Amino acid sequence: MSDFTGQIAVVTGATRGIGRAIAESLLKAGATVIGVYASNEEAAQDFLERYEGGHGRLQLHRCDVARLDEVKEFYKMVEDRFDTIDILVNNAGIRRDAVVAMMSPEDWNRVIEVNLTGSYHMAKHAVLLMLKKKYGRIIFITSPMAHMGFPGQANYAASKAGQIGLISSLSKETAKRKITVNGVSPGFIDTEFLGGLSSEQMSEYKKMIPMKRFGRPDEVASAVLFLAGPGASYITGSVLEVNGGL
Ligand code: NDP
Repeated sequence: MSDFTGQIAVVTGATRGIGRAIAESLLKAGATVIGVYASNEEAAQDFLERYEGGHGRLQLHRCDVARLDEVKEFYKMVEDRFDTIDILVNNAGIRRDAVVAMMSPEDWNRVIEVNLTGSYHMAKHAVLLMLKKKYGRIIFITSPMAHMGFPGQANYAASKAGQIGLISSLSKETAKRKITVNGVSPGFIDTEFLGGLSSEQMSEYKKMIPMKRFGRPDEVASAVLFLAGPGASYITGSVLEVNGGL
């Protein structure tokens, strides 16, 4: 595993599921992690208690990535305390499923605002800080839904496809400043995000996966740490699939 000692990483959605596994892996590898969450104080407290005293390198901040005012305030705090950052993991994401004919404009807009506009807000301000030392690693957690599509997930699929366009353009804008921009696209990963699936749906989905099982959050985290580490210095604008062969 690469050594991230001395590096500052911002991870959105850091308190649960995949984001928490990414934050824990970065902490274990020596990084300081500034985690962001939306509203679940209990999950944030649980994470802080687990790391209390042991590392002193974990901070958690409540910030809705969809709100530019909150994101600006968050990055002002980050710049005041740390000057710049090395890594941004744009992981925060939500689902609000419904078939298009029944999907409310609120559910369409909220998913696009959190998953796509939120990751733009976070990346924009990360780039401004990373330009200070002409180094940075930006990693988006996207989804195979971006190209597969699933009934009931048009808003989610559109938000994740939008992230892939954002990765492609941003990576070309920042490449010569040594700021790489990549995606990790997890298949079905066992987190609360899959809540609401019936046991029949779960076994149907597992049948579709060549490895016949859902992935674990730590299996996504190891791909993220690879892209954030020195071994990925010549990789930018790419999306790494972590999906059991889906
Ligand atoms: P979880 O629902 O387990 O965790 C989501 C995290 O994102 C929580 O920490 C949550 O904070 C945070 N969050 C949600 N909305 C916002 C917001 N507006 N601002 C800031 N933080 C927010 O999700 P997963 O860990 O499963 O998913 C993480 C990412 O991986 C998502 O982008 C998802 O689309 C993607 N993904 C997941 C897959 C899966 O099968 N699990 C498959 C493919 C992609 P709080 O706790 O406060 O709500």
